This record gives sequence, C-alpha cells and structure tokens, in this order.
Amino acid sequence: MTVGDLEAMPKTTAREGSSRACIDSTRLSRSLRLSGIVEESIVDGPGIRYAVFTQGCPHRCPGCHNPQTHDLEGGYEISSADLIESFMRSAAENPLLSGVTITGGEPLIQAYGLIPFADAARAAGYDIWIYTGYTMEEITKRHDGDEMALLKLTDTLVDGRFTQELRTLEKRFIGSSNQRIISSPFR
Ligand code: SF4
Repeated sequence: MTVGDLEAMPKTTAREGSSRACIDSTRLSRSLRLSGIVEESIVDGPGIRYAVFTQGCPHRCPGCHNPQTHDLEGGYEISSADLIESFMRSAAENPLLSGVTITGGEPLIQAYGLIPFADAARAAGYDIWIYTGYTMEEITKRHDGDEMALLKLTDTLVDGRFTQELRTLEKRFIGSSNQRIISSPFR
C-alpha cells in the first residue's frame, strides 16, 4: 500500500476502510520533525496505539521524561506522505491497533505538518489522542488556524505541562495532576 494507492481510493470513515483514506495530494509534501515512532504503545492512551513522538518542545518542564525531544533541531525529518505510509503499513499488519497518539515534544508547534497525518488516520477509522504542554485556555486564546484544524481532528486532548510537584502515578495516561484528559476538545 502506497500513498498513491490511498489517494486513488474513495473517502471512508468506516473502520473496514482502514487501508483507505482521503488524502489531499497537495498536503503530502509537508515536512515534520520527529523524535521517533512506537508502533505498539499501551501507555499513551487506551488500547494499542501508534504513538508518534514529535521533536522540539519549548516548555522544558523540570522532570520531563523525554528530554531528548526538546531540541528543535534534533530528531529526524519525515514528510507527511512517508509518515502516513508508515502508519498505514503498521495498521495493515496489526488488526489490534485501535488508535493514534501524537505526543512529544510539543506537537502543536508542528500542527501544520501533522494535519494530513491526523486526517488520514481518522478517515481510516482510528481515534486520535494528542498530548500538549499548552492548556486548553492558552490554545483557545491563541486561536491559531493550524492548531484549530488539527484539534478538530482530535478525539482526546491531554493538556498542560508536566509539573513535578504534582506528579501522580494514580491516574492513567497523565504524569501530573494538573493535566486534563479532554474529549472532543474543539468540536
Ligand atoms: S511539555 Fe512534555 S515534552 Fe515538553 S518538556 Fe513538558 S513534559 Fe517534556
């Protein structure tokens, strides 16, 4: 399955169409900087998830578990097309995959590049989680067009910086108690 194959297929939102997605070819050349990909994660949201770790984070939270993702020039570059293709290949090989998590790093600073990927994964029937260090209030106030477009494709947003003093092991999927798990944040 290639991105070219995907472009030729009709749009579907059904899970049975997990090998299909509606992709605007003009968006496929967008560039992303990633720290890495975990094809089967069970800690970044419910079920088995395809976790994309973006590279670059302005928040620099003390105690961050992923300091290697901070450097804006670190990681590696990948196009939207290649990321989508990589995801579709994993999805085709793993029927237990239930969703996609985009984390980091700070994903929202690469919202423009992430939109085609989130769009394709969602159109193929996978739910989308995004972890951001920004709060909902900060995002709403900024009202950035690319961020809003990405968040409209998001089923669940985990917001807020990791705060060492509020570190918790009691709640699933968050690192500190100030962080919130918000369903359908901008729909
Ligand atoms: S927002 Fe996340 S990745 Fe960025 S410094 Fe804080 S904990 Fe680390």
